Amino acid sequence: MNARTRVAVIGTGAGGAPLLARLAQAGVQVTALEAGLRHPPHGVATDEVAQAGLFWMDERLSAGNDPLAFGRNNSGRGVGGSTLHYTAYTPRAQPDDLRLHSEFGQGVDWPLEYADLERYYDEIEPFLGVSGPSTYPWGPPRRQPYRHPPLPLNGAAELMARGCDALGLRTSPAANAALSRPQTQEGYGERPACSNRGFCQAGCSTGAKASLDVTYLALAEHHGARILDGSYVTGFRRDGDRVTGVEYLRYGEQHLLEADIVVLSAGAVETPRMLLMHDLANSSGQVGRNFMAHTGVQVWGQFPESVRPNRGIPGSLISEDTHRVPGLVGGYLLQSIGVMPVTYATQYTRGTGTWGAALHEHMAGYNHVAGINILGDCLPYDHNYLELSDEHDAWGLPKPRVHFTFGDNERRMTQHAEDLMRRIWEAAGATGIWAFPRAAHTIGTARMGTDPQSSVVDPYGRAHDLQNLWISDNSTFPSALSANPALTIMALSLRTADRLLHHMNRGEA
Ligand SMILES: Cc1cc2nc3c(=O)[nH]c(=O)nc-3n(C[C@H](O)[C@H](O)[C@H](O)COP(=O)(O)OP(=O)(O)OC[C@H]3O[C@@H](n4cnc5c(N)ncnc54)[C@H](O)[C@@H]3O)c2cc1C
Ligand code: SF4
Repeated sequence: MNARTRVAVIGTGAGGAPLLARLAQAGVQVTALEAGLRHPPHGVATDEVAQAGLFWMDERLSAGNDPLAFGRNNSGRGVGGSTLHYTAYTPRAQPDDLRLHSEFGQGVDWPLEYADLERYYDEIEPFLGVSGPSTYPWGPPRRQPYRHPPLPLNGAAELMARGCDALGLRTSPAANAALSRPQTQEGYGERPACSNRGFCQAGCSTGAKASLDVTYLALAEHHGARILDGSYVTGFRRDGDRVTGVEYLRYGEQHLLEADIVVLSAGAVETPRMLLMHDLANSSGQVGRNFMAHTGVQVWGQFPESVRPNRGIPGSLISEDTHRVPGLVGGYLLQSIGVMPVTYATQYTRGTGTWGAALHEHMAGYNHVAGINILGDCLPYDHNYLELSDEHDAWGLPKPRVHFTFGDNERRMTQHAEDLMRRIWEAAGATGIWAFPRAAHTIGTARMGTDPQSSVVDPYGRAHDLQNLWISDNSTFPSALSANPALTIMALSLRTADRLLHHMNRGEA
């Protein structure tokens, strides 16, 4: 079946959803194609295993010295993308995050200023209902307080605060895209306050968490956007320097959606994979290059007192005192971790190789463990990239292979952070401590920039090579930032939408 739309958006995560809403609100005919299904809050089970459908479980191949774990660790699939299961930590990037090259002579600068993001942060936070502290110790002073006060600290956060106090490190309740007070959401209705059940990473069954299905996508549909779930994009139609349509499979049938403008928001693995498969926007040879993942080492402590790590908003407490560390390029932030039991058991097994009876014995102490992790900057390197492999998936398409090896800066950052977190847990009274080195998030692969030789899209997300192809997702980040990415992806999404509207109004789209 063939259909036509003014704008087709592929993917409905943090990159696709805000743009979809902005265009729909402006009266633009817009259609989203989303490979995953709808997972409304009332259908979400308080069951980690049953919730596997929120993740992109098609195989992705990993190579390099620090091969990345995908699936449940690094992916999302559904109407709302990864935000269906994200932890909802929403710190802002800091201005100097955008200027690594100017500050250190390494990495790259972003082709935009902090002020370009700040106006969108100011808009997005109250819309999502971010709960956070009225004064935040790091970064530029906020121009307005958070709409809602912070959520209560969970067990790990209270212990982390104790350890950090003893070491003289400042902490603050974190900003979370989850409601500490009820909020009415246009297009959705009443969202209740968070009940602290702690299952954010398995999906929120109440709508308290600001996943995009209950926020920007509800707004988009309220204003007339069409969202076709279960629609897997398999190809593109092209005419010269324009994309003219998108081919997709829905319920086993092939369809064509003709479009004047196409926005790719499929995330930093599927977006470059599609561009490479269909030879789009790659005259620079930069598609798939500069793959980045945050350094994310976790340190866990065993405590005599009950922690009950599955209770409360998982990301409660933050410290950005390590935003700059002498001798490192960039820096990291520290975050307390709440964790569900199956996730914890899986990570413990991966981190320590413990298994069988010994794992059972360890899990008997689950109620007494607390974790801290870091979110550390990662430089772009030539040796980290995504390519198409010669293995094919169930759709007959080449599987993506991601090469990833931490550089010297990330290794030293990880070591610095592990040492510090061990000291925090010692100061908090832990009786046993262990570390789990890991990387988090998929970033880069279709970098934004002003130079078409070294970047894939311009600073607003428009492909240098194709007039009517735009990218709005985690793949356009020139550097990783020392902050969780979702809020910044959303800010860029609205910025791209505003630029697109500007072009449309001038008849240039
Ligand atoms: C467990 C976990 C916890 C996290 N916690 C946080 C957090 O606390 N704070 C934070 O800021 N970030 C967090 N993140 C990261 C954050 O969720 C992601 O960085 C962000 O949501 C990515 O947005 P995106 O739009 O780039 O991609 P995605 O959210 O991955 O969206 C891409 C969408 O495109 C669809 N798609 C892909 N290919 C196709 C195709 N061929 N056809 C049709 N549709 C397609 C996918 O199904 C998906 O829904 C977390 C991630 C994980 C895995
Ligand atoms: S902790 Fe709050 S936001 Fe997270 S799943 Fe539970 S109710 Fe939803």
